[in-house]
This record gives sequence, structure tokens and C-alpha cells, in this order.
Amino acid sequence: MTLLNSDFQSVRDWDNKHFLHPWEGMSYLGQNERTFAESGLGIHVVTEDGKRLIDGPAGMWCVQLGYGNTEIADAMGQQAKAMAYFSPFNNANSAPARLAHEIAKRTPGDLNHVFFTTGGSTAVDSAIRFVQFRNNLLGKPEKKIVISRQKAYHGSTYLAASVSGKERDKGWLDQASDLTRFLPNVNPYTRRPDQMINDFLDEKIADLENTILQTGAGKVAAFIAEPILCSGGVIVPPRGYHQRCLEICRKYDVLYISDEVVTGFGRLGHWFASEDVFGIQPDIITCAKGMTSGYVPMGACIISDRLIADVSGDNGQDATFSNGFTYSGHPVSAAAGLKTIEIMERDGVMEHVRAITPFFEERLQALADLPLVGDARGMGLVGCVECVADAEANNLLDLDKSVGAMIDHHCQENGLILRPIINMCVFSPPLIITEGELNEMFDILEKGIRLTTEDLTHQGVF
Ligand code: PMP
Repeated sequence: MTLLNSDFQSVRDWDNKHFLHPWEGMSYLGQNERTFAESGLGIHVVTEDGKRLIDGPAGMWCVQLGYGNTEIADAMGQQAKAMAYFSPFNNANSAPARLAHEIAKRTPGDLNHVFFTTGGSTAVDSAIRFVQFRNNLLGKPEKKIVISRQKAYHGSTYLAASVSGKERDKGWLDQASDLTRFLPNVNPYTRRPDQMINDFLDEKIADLENTILQTGAGKVAAFIAEPILCSGGVIVPPRGYHQRCLEICRKYDVLYISDEVVTGFGRLGHWFASEDVFGIQPDIITCAKGMTSGYVPMGACIISDRLIADVSGDNGQDATFSNGFTYSGHPVSAAAGLKTIEIMERDGVMEHVRAITPFFEERLQALADLPLVGDARGMGLVGCVECVADAEANNLLDLDKSVGAMIDHHCQENGLILRPIINMCVFSPPLIITEGELNEMFDILEKGIRLTTEDLTHQGVF
């Protein structure tokens, strides 16, 4: 269906007038020219004026199996007709029970307890609340500090935002200031030109250990980390980073929360990246997005047997983990999750992602040769180009130039949506993308970067 009819301008007006979007910029509230899409198929969406665009970021890193998947839609429809909703508080339904079982089969180590949430933020919130609950029960109420990292994004609820480290998001909203300690940027691209990568890694590990020691190990409850810092600009820490962080955590009795909201469900070619890609068994994993292929909201906080043993049986005293949502384990979301897993398994989606990743990386790396591109980085099917005024000197463009948005604009004109983040563009296409489609995506991206370079040259800023 196309929206290009006499009513479309009204729809845009209603959107501008009544729909407060995420991260709404208040200075141009009501004047947005957002792209509307009303249908999609595979890796493509169709915009209001009938343009077919490759969805570079797969929505918000979530539409793993692409658009128009009738199997998922039918599974949701059947569940809605049979039993749309039943309270998860005192009762149960087989769809979330089966999904919890399927997830537990695929998690690392003893992460067998799935606490369903409504998305990624509530998964992170629930993880932190569980850690606080556990430490209260263990008689360690002072062990509550969470260590996070600059550039991390963990969500928009109060606790999740309080452990998020993107500086630009901290200006206008309050956070729980006493909860978190932030470690410096782990982006290897930002290291001093004379610093070897192993020295950089040692420095980052020392940052974690020193922060624990300065805060006092008796006060630090958990370390939270995305395997790759995605919204922060697809930052891939040096090899061995997560394993060494886990060793430090174990040394000081600090729990490790691995936030796999983006990396889970196939983005890096595995169900979960923590163990299969980074070799760690965390204490808690959070996930969301791809678990329903973005068809309906759902998230989960997955807790290890070890932690559950700390708070249950005799250890549980008379305590209740009083945290939960009306829609924890929503049957329709669970049906979408079960079908997503079934299709991924049946169609060998993990194997497919692993097979096309080298090609993705090859084309990504080639972008680094463009004069505007300072760094082209990524892992699995996640990529980012970071633009600079002078690649040799690594100096960033004036951030207010919004170069990411300029590239996105040119790419949309040529058939590709990106996710612009200040001077970066991020992309994480649906996992079902073929090599031919990847080729097309990178061709358009390259063209968009070249056109933006010409614009900047005309403006005299490049
Ligand atoms: N954690 C990470 C790593 C994320 O990338 C996001 C969302 N981009 C969240 C948590 C929050 O998820 P949601 O938007 O579903 O609440």
C-alpha cells in the first residue's frame, strides 16, 4: 500500500503534531520530514511515495528475518485467536513456557532462567533489579554499584539510562548518579597513534580493575557490557577484552551482565555472542529486538542457575522478586519468538550469516579508503563508517555538520536507508540478505559517501 494520496499530508501533519518520537529534537518539533513506510518485503521497505529502499539498519537492528514474513505473522495471528493474553503473574500459558525452554537450550553455560520483559530497556532494568535483590538477600546491601562504559547504550528506563554512557544523552534528563561508574572509551580507533593494540587492551583492563579497587570491591555489584557497543558507534573492543574483564569480575566477586539486545539472535552469526564469539559465560544476559525478529515487542533477562540458587530455597527466606510486567511473556510475542527460532534453525540463518560475513567485512573495509572515512569497523552483520575531516590526522568533522544524516539522505535517494549517528552511519541489514543484495547495499553506500564528500567540498569544509 502506498500512502501517496490526498490524505498523506494529513498523516504527516498528525505524526508531527501528535506523535512524540523517540529522541525527539525539540527545536524542530512539528517540522520533521521523516520517511514513512507502509509495507515491506524481505530486506526492502516501500516508502510513502512508492520508493523501494533496502533497510540498512533492519529497523533498529531487529528485523532479522526481513519484512512480510507470513509464517511469523500467521503464528502471531493463530496465537491471538486462540489465547491473546493470560496473566503471567499467577497463571501460565504454553507459548512463553516453550519459548523459555527454547532460549535456555541456546544460552551459554547455566543461564537457564528466562525473565521475560517488554523490550531491551526493561530487560536491563530487570537485570539490575535482580542483582540488587540478590545482594540484599545475601546480606550485602552496600554492594550495589554498577560499572559501565562511556558510549554504552542500555536503554531508556531510569535504571537502564543510568547505566548508559553516551555523553550527548545525559544533558537534559536525570539519572541515578550514585549508581554507576563509567570506564573510558574502549574504541581502539581513539587510541594514541603510538599506542600498540595490546597496550591499549591492558589499559582498558586496568581501568576496570582500578575502578573496582577505587570504589571498593565490597561496593561493586556488577559490570555491564554490550559485546559490541552498538548505538555508541559499533565499537568492537580489542580481542580478548571480554574474557579479561570476566576474569577481573570473578576476582572481585562482581557479576557480569552481557547486554546482547543487539548481538543476540544471529547478528554475529550465533544465538548469543557472549560465549560463541567472545568466549565468556556471563552471569546474566539481556536480549530483545531480534528474538521476535522485530515483529512484536519482547525482551528477556536470562539469569544463571548459580544466581537463582543464591535467592531460592532456604536462601530465599520469604522474599519475592517483586519485579514484573503485565506483558511479561506475552503469548503473541512468545509465538513470534518461537516461530523466529524455528525459521532461523530450519533455514540455517546462523550458518548463512557466518558464510556472508567475510564478504560484508571485505566491502566494509574497502570504504576506509574513501577520503571522508576515518574508520570503517564492524563485526558479523553490523557495520559503521565514521567520517573525519582529515583521515591522516584522525580529526573528526565538526559534529554539528551531521555528516551521517547527509550520507543517509543521499543513500535514501539511491535506494538505501541508514542509521545516521552524528558523524557516523550505522547499518545492520536483515540477516537474510544475500551476497548480491549486500553488494548493492555497499554500492549505494559508497555512492552516498562520495556525494556527501562533494557537498562538503562545495561547502568548503572538506
Ligand atoms: N541495550 C542495547 C544494547 C540496545 O542497543 C538497546 C536499544 N537500542 C537497548 C538495550 C534498549 O532496548 P529497547 O529499545 O528495546 O528498550
